[in-house]
Amino acid sequence: MSDAKEKLAPFLTMALERGVDHARIIETPSIITAPWVRLKCQFGCFGYGRGLCCPPYTPTPEGMRGILDSYSHAILLHRHWQKGYAVLDEFNELVVDIEKALFLDGYYKAWGMGSGPCRRCKKCDPTGSCLHADRSRPSMEACGIDAFATAREHDLPIQVLRTHKEERDIFGVVLVE
Ligand code: SF4
Repeated sequence: MSDAKEKLAPFLTMALERGVDHARIIETPSIITAPWVRLKCQFGCFGYGRGLCCPPYTPTPEGMRGILDSYSHAILLHRHWQKGYAVLDEFNELVVDIEKALFLDGYYKAWGMGSGPCRRCKKCDPTGSCLHADRSRPSMEACGIDAFATAREHDLPIQVLRTHKEERDIFGVVLVE
């Protein structure tokens, strides 16, 4: 772990310089998946089936567990989001930028997940191909990751929102080995 920490430190700096509150190198077993996460997408979210970065087009929790287990480490990112979708978009851009920077540095398996549904196009057509496949990434939750349990596993703040106006904490993760 200390070797990974040293080698990946520049990518943490990159994240912190671009506005995240926390950037941590973690081991992938501490990223928690659960079967119920899919239910929350399927029953209760307007986005189910409407976008290529949402279920059922994303990995199932079981599939995601297998993917996570094929990596040793990840960079977990957290940002406290106060107002406006610009912060969310900026955060999700950062996830992809870190993934790409890792890839170009030789970490050929690097792959990232952001927060919330993809908002790149006004309307997503799930019967077609992605219009921005190089930059669109699903969220952690869309891939069956329990973001609450994962954040709390790493002593990061997260809470249930009671209104859409409340301040919130958003998370992303970039898998790396
Ligand atoms: S980039 Fe556009 S087409 Fe691709 S998943 Fe996002 S909204 Fe859909």
